[in-house]
Amino acid sequence: MADKKKERRIGNKWIGVDLDGTLAEWDGWKGHEHIGKPIPLMVERVKRWREMDIEVRVFTARASIADHVPPVQKWLEDNGLPGLAVTNQKDYKMLQLWDDRCVQVIPNSGELVKNANWVPPVDTKTEDDATEETDKK
Ligand SMILES: [Mg+2]
Repeated sequence: MADKKKERRIGNKWIGVDLDGTLAEWDGWKGHEHIGKPIPLMVERVKRWREMDIEVRVFTARASIADHVPPVQKWLEDNGLPGLAVTNQKDYKMLQLWDDRCVQVIPNSGELVKNANWVPPVDTKTEDDATEETDKK
């Protein structure tokens, strides 16, 4: 029964949701153990999707470093979203990606979707700091 309901909604697809700046407040890199406060509107949205039996995966660059995943899982548990997959990989079943850095284009055109002309700030600090943490090991 639940499978049929889900099938009608989105089939076997999943929705990707970014962590930093999307599910959690972002105020610069403070180490991989630090994750910002939950953003209520987004957290509640994800909870509703789960209640609708829609698969949600947390789509974050943190998943590119294995040691950075457990704090994400703990944060999800602490904020009412236990058991979500944490990944940095797309596959053909990804239906949507919700991310504060996304710039959406109209398919087959290269044109920006209306009101999507905001350019995300370049934040090399995040990548550099994450890489440095790994290099020290
Ligand atoms: Mg982000």
